[in-house]
Amino acid sequence: MSTVKTRGSLIVLSGFAGVGKGTVLKSLFETQEGYAYSVSATTRQPRPGEVDGVHYFFVSKERFEEMIRDDELLEHASYVGNYYGTPRAYVEQKLDEGFDVILEIEVQGALKIKEKVPEAVLIYMLPPSADILYERLKGRGTETDEVIGRRMKKAAQEAESVEQYDYMVVNDDADECAARLHALIRSQRQRIRSSLTFIRKLAKELANMSEKER
Ligand code: 5GP
Repeated sequence: MSTVKTRGSLIVLSGFAGVGKGTVLKSLFETQEGYAYSVSATTRQPRPGEVDGVHYFFVSKERFEEMIRDDELLEHASYVGNYYGTPRAYVEQKLDEGFDVILEIEVQGALKIKEKVPEAVLIYMLPPSADILYERLKGRGTETDEVIGRRMKKAAQEAESVEQYDYMVVNDDADECAARLHALIRSQRQRIRSSLTFIRKLAKELANMSEKER
């Protein structure tokens, strides 16, 4: 009899700018298997060190609008003056292959995903304190004070939406946070609604077997 391969889970990870999502995910991917990271498209300019196709697909506003028109994006949102969106094809392919796909996206996009894909798991990453968040944003040294100010303000607004998420994790230490995130994601596989494909297939196989027994 065939072993049933379940479809992966769709995991949405959000968190204030500077909270350390990138570092935590790096630790997760280095230590665990079975994950796929969805690379977003954006109209924002690359920061130093960012690579096209790795961190983002950096595209023009015209190309982004074409992607919206052609329904190539699972969701998209505008954030601090730029467009960001999740290319659909890669996510579908990896879920079908059984990978847990991680979307690192902001709140508006996350809530759109929840509407479209109710079994998606929404996780919010919080800093241990506001001071630590500010220090991390400053320490990154890639943005002007004005942009940091806008991002802090955005963080305060976003805090109101956190209640709509399923889980939160606090990033006090990147490796420990990654380990907690992994445990959380693995436990989702046991949820009934994430396992419907498996359960239905099992039921069908049982029905076929009972037919043969007669
Ligand atoms: P940053 O400019 O700092 O890389 O990202 C700004 C915000 O946009 C972050 O909160 C990030 O998670 C979010 N973001 C990145 N990609 C996407 C996407 O594809 N869709 C949405 N809705 N937000 C995204």
